[in-house]
Amino acid sequence: MSSDSLLDSELEPFQHCDMLPSLEGANLEDLDSWEQLWPLESLPPLPKRDPKYWSQATVGMLLIASMIVSLTVAVHLSVGRRSRWSNPSWCESADTVIQGFALLALFCTAFILCGRSGEVKRSRLTCYPIPAQVVHHLQGQLPRLDKNIDGPEHSTRLRSYCVRCLVWRTRGCESSHHCSICQRCVPEFDHHCGVLGRCISEANMPCFKATLGAGLAGLIALVLTNGWCSDG
Ligand SMILES: [Zn+2]
Ligand SMILES: [Zn+2]
Repeated sequence: MSSDSLLDSELEPFQHCDMLPSLEGANLEDLDSWEQLWPLESLPPLPKRDPKYWSQATVGMLLIASMIVSLTVAVHLSVGRRSRWSNPSWCESADTVIQGFALLALFCTAFILCGRSGEVKRSRLTCYPIPAQVVHHLQGQLPRLDKNIDGPEHSTRLRSYCVRCLVWRTRGCESSHHCSICQRCVPEFDHHCGVLGRCISEANMPCFKATLGAGLAGLIALVLTNGWCSDG
């Protein structure tokens, strides 16, 4: 059995259902057979993103950009307008530090906005085998499915099949979730960020925390430079 082959337990629910004419005689253990019968390109397109996916991201981008600019400029002015000789040495470096945090926040925000939440992509391994109910639906014999399909009980890989993305969510990623705004399945889902318009998952959580941390650091830098960098 090749690494692309499926375990018997993964095929169980598909072998006992009414076999469709197009599947008769096909070797269901072989992903190549599935691909010949139902090429990935023949599947319906992925669901359309909710309009909030774009609007939230636009508002979030403008909000974060304006915060970065205002905090950086405020700290720069706060340090610059004072007498440099009477300030503690760290006041001079506050300017550089805040610019570093600004760059970090920019990079992390871009990473999150570019959709790097680890959304499940369609591939041979995520799409096949296609559950019989879905095949019936694709052939127009069943109306739109609205309930995800559980994977075979004994499968170590297939946990549940998303009837909107048409992909399997795998075992080991029990918190996989289909986001109604991003309209994609996201493994290790934590929450959908209403400010950035993107899902936050294990894949981009470090960037999310770094963005929050950079914002907090900017505020602290502003308070400190205003309070301690004095005219002397
Ligand atoms: Zn999905
Ligand atoms: Zn989302």
